[in-house]
Amino acid sequence: MISLHEKVLVRIFQEFEKWSEESLACKKGCAICCTQNVVVTAVEGDWILRYIRDHGKEEWFASKFQLKADTRRPQVTTNGFAASCLQGEDVTPESYGNTGVCPFLEENCCSIYKVRPFSCRCFVSSSVCKPDTPALIAEYYLSASTAVMQIIEHLGQGKFIGNMLDVLLALCGTSENRKNFRMLPASMSEQGLANVVKALPLPGFLLLEEEMDKIGPLLQAIFSYEIEGKSIENILNNV
Ligand code: SF4
Ligand code: SF4
Repeated sequence: MISLHEKVLVRIFQEFEKWSEESLACKKGCAICCTQNVVVTAVEGDWILRYIRDHGKEEWFASKFQLKADTRRPQVTTNGFAASCLQGEDVTPESYGNTGVCPFLEENCCSIYKVRPFSCRCFVSSSVCKPDTPALIAEYYLSASTAVMQIIEHLGQGKFIGNMLDVLLALCGTSENRKNFRMLPASMSEQGLANVVKALPLPGFLLLEEEMDKIGPLLQAIFSYEIEGKSIENILNNV
């Protein structure tokens, strides 16, 4: 059964998609951006694993980890970075570099498209990327993506966050998932667990006053939406 946190996650994705008005160059089959440099929360990882289980694709899923490149533990999460900024500390955003093609990319299409994480959903471009031409998108869109990522991290606070493949491996080692994913050696799950960090609560947003006209309605739509008789804001605040 889908959990309350997963229902909130899906709604956040839907509200973000409704809000985005950018004209995008992204098309099916365009996939230079599909690297292993994808950060996800455990809530997103749970949703991906549910999809794998529901479709009986455990063996296929396990085989994907043969393509895993070396990943590394994040030094700071999105909310950790925001907290440092809000405290006036001098911090620079972490750069992960390109770590190889995402193992879920098959024939240039995402094989887990329906349940892909937010990092993949918000990574878009208004002009077609080329190996020497990176993605191009409006500054306010990047600010909104960061704000939404902060909300998603808050939703999964206390659980973990990290590279998608490490988060998935770590989740496969939990008592709930072990029986379904026993084809993955426990040592791989332990390695995944060693590479993830704790998701933190939202310390505040880093939005500029002049961005609020565009981003405010998105945050309002997310926070006010009701699931099981409670607004997402109250669910996030545990009220
Ligand atoms: S972000 Fe760039 S590479 Fe990725 S789908 Fe969009 S245009 Fe293609
Ligand atoms: S999960 Fe899907 S959308 Fe995300 S990087 Fe991998 S193939 Fe691309």
